[in-house]
Amino acid sequence: MNKNSSNIMALAPNTSNKRETVCIFGTGDFGRALGHKMIQCGYRVVYGSRSTQISNLIPKDAEVLGHAEAAQKAAIIIIAIQRQHYNFLTPLAEILHGKVLVDISNNLKLNQYPESNAEYLAQLLPGSKVVKAFNTVSAWALQSGTLDASRQVFVCGDDVEAKQMVMNIVRALGLTPLDKGSLLAAQEIENYPLQLFPMWKFPIFLSLGLTAFFFCYCLALDVIYTYIYENNNFSFFIAITIPNRVCPVMALILLALVYLPGIFAAIIQLYRGTKYRRFPDWLDKWMLCRKQLGLIALAFAFLHVVFTLVSPMRAFVSWRTGKGIISQALNNKTEPLNHTNAWISDSYLALGILGFFLFVLLGITSLPSVSSNVNWREFRFVQSKLGYLALILCTAHTLVYGGKWFLSPSAYRWYLPNIYMLSLIVPCAVLVVKFVLIIPCIDKPLTQIRQGWERNPKYSE
Ligand code: NAP
Repeated sequence: MNKNSSNIMALAPNTSNKRETVCIFGTGDFGRALGHKMIQCGYRVVYGSRSTQISNLIPKDAEVLGHAEAAQKAAIIIIAIQRQHYNFLTPLAEILHGKVLVDISNNLKLNQYPESNAEYLAQLLPGSKVVKAFNTVSAWALQSGTLDASRQVFVCGDDVEAKQMVMNIVRALGLTPLDKGSLLAAQEIENYPLQLFPMWKFPIFLSLGLTAFFFCYCLALDVIYTYIYENNNFSFFIAITIPNRVCPVMALILLALVYLPGIFAAIIQLYRGTKYRRFPDWLDKWMLCRKQLGLIALAFAFLHVVFTLVSPMRAFVSWRTGKGIISQALNNKTEPLNHTNAWISDSYLALGILGFFLFVLLGITSLPSVSSNVNWREFRFVQSKLGYLALILCTAHTLVYGGKWFLSPSAYRWYLPNIYMLSLIVPCAVLVVKFVLIIPCIDKPLTQIRQGWERNPKYSE
């Protein structure tokens, strides 16, 4: 009988949607947005405010009281007030004693104060249990429901029970709590909303630097050189021709730079005979921004495709084609089709199209919505195997297109190699070393090291 009734209890739906009362200090933008969301999710909300007058901005079902009175009604108090006003809480220390205070505040600058706002609050009110949460969620996102980009809520605090209570609220609001540990983590959490694309800085600066270098290189060889030595004014090359040389070169080099740190890591692991020692900092940082490097490479490849597709519309190209036809007409002679050239042009176009297709596939699988739907093996297959295939195809595309100039002395203006030759250095180096690394006698120890084997184990029996 007892067994049956407990089953019925377990299956019976929870008819009451009402949850506990939560107090929010501050009726500003964030306090109102959070209160609104909490009421929607079944909480009773009491505001603690300097003014107890109800305005129509405040959620309909919420109560507005003075701070002391509101604090007495709840075990959890969310402090939706800027840090510089926290002093007003000191006289309330007795009422707030033992209560869970949720610090949601942010600063205007990175590491603005010596201690985090949450730690400061804990110092002001040592009898309360301070938990940091919600600071990475915006009032606008809470109100408009567009939380897709920021469902994660970082939570930290010294009192485990208090942290659990706040995490339960986070879950009840349809968000995902991420426990970051003790209140010491608050400074880091407070810095998150102030960071400006931290993973993009190095790839962007590197791309800008390399683009400027290759642009000047092409400008010198294709415009200035021809002007000085051949008396031709090709300054209009600046608009399409040079960008269409720089973009594929950048795409190829950046794609190779995505795979180069993996090569370095493999060499370091082979040399050390263990995977249990940290990589140098520069390599760690490089590995972390491979996705960004790949996406920038994809953007350059895309620009190359667009520049190439608009080429037939250019006045220079129509003039050159017309000139060829007229010269054949004047000589009354049709040039026979050069089959070697036809093969070369069709081959590099085919290689370029296939390489670009794989490039796009890599870009798509790096999107969080796609990568979260594939397992680790599938992700590795696309990013590593297909990624290397994309690198091989793009390198071959450049080799077939630019290879004919390698042995031609006219390609070495001012004794400098053509830009295509420069672009092949890094990708060819990566591919050659990768081929060496997959030779069985090297691949076997590397795989063993990656599975935990050590050449000179530190803790041997
Ligand atoms: P806000 O609109 O300026 O509201 C702050 C509230 O603090 C005021 O409405 C006021 O409420 C109270 N207040 C102001 N001066 C006070 C004083 N001297 N003494 C006591 N209370 C005072 O600011 P907010 O945008 O809601 O932001 C509040 C906190 O949430 C900030 O720490 C912010 O960093 C953090 N936050 C905001 C967002 C966001 O998207 N807005 C996102 C994450 C975190 P009463 O008039 O009711 O007393």
